[in-house]
Amino acid sequence: MEELIAGAQDLRIPLTPEHVAALQHYQVQLITWNERFNLTAITDDIGIQVRHFLDSFSCLLALEAGERLAGKAIIDVGTGAGFPGIPLKILCPGIRLTLLEATAKKVRFLRHIVGELALKDVQVIHQRAEALGQEPRHRERYDWAMARAVADLPILLEYLLPLVRIGGRALAQKGEGAPSEVQRSEWALRQLGGQTRRLVPVDLRGLTETRYLVVVDKIAATPIQYPRRPGMPAKRPLTEA
Ligand code: SAM
Repeated sequence: MEELIAGAQDLRIPLTPEHVAALQHYQVQLITWNERFNLTAITDDIGIQVRHFLDSFSCLLALEAGERLAGKAIIDVGTGAGFPGIPLKILCPGIRLTLLEATAKKVRFLRHIVGELALKDVQVIHQRAEALGQEPRHRERYDWAMARAVADLPILLEYLLPLVRIGGRALAQKGEGAPSEVQRSEWALRQLGGQTRRLVPVDLRGLTETRYLVVVDKIAATPIQYPRRPGMPAKRPLTEA
């Protein structure tokens, strides 16, 4: 796990032996399950440590000075095999974490790994974001809604912002196209009650491409017609009037 420990140091995240042990167990379980269920395209040790674990940790760069995730209600939308939510929960056990995923085999893995790692205060939900965003128990209830590699930003914002309380934030982990995705999201942001706060460039050890965290403030209630029914945000993205 040397690459992981060094990469975390670059991000100024000190890893304890307990963190490393939990992440190592996660890595072994992910590789084992992946042989049967094809959960992720990244299957080598270094790839998992850099592209899954370190990239998940980098979400902490979106926090303001002195801000902490402990005690916050966080939802990871389209979490797949648990990214970025589970590595963040390992680092910050005080997070109240909800993992949302639409694919059944990934949900089975999530329930398994949450049990294996004995993670407390984690809810795994098998549902689509468009449906969950209309459920009163989840709508506008979260301090942070985050996602990585789920959809183009105008679509993703329709998944995330209905779940965020006013004053909370959405966080999208994006690649080099982030600045243009943000430009194309102006209409979606206006419709959904969001406002871009900042783009944080992220350079990870071992990766040549720059990645970005797109941080969005929830400044107004999301109108009840959003999110639209499952499939509609992707079919008709909120890119124009
Ligand atoms: N976030 C994980 C990561 O970065 O490794 C998984 C990324 S994977 C490319 C996208 C995941 O989002 C898939 O597991 C898919 O099932 C899920 N997903 C896509 N659309 C969704 C939706 N509308 N609601 C819930 N999950 C969704």
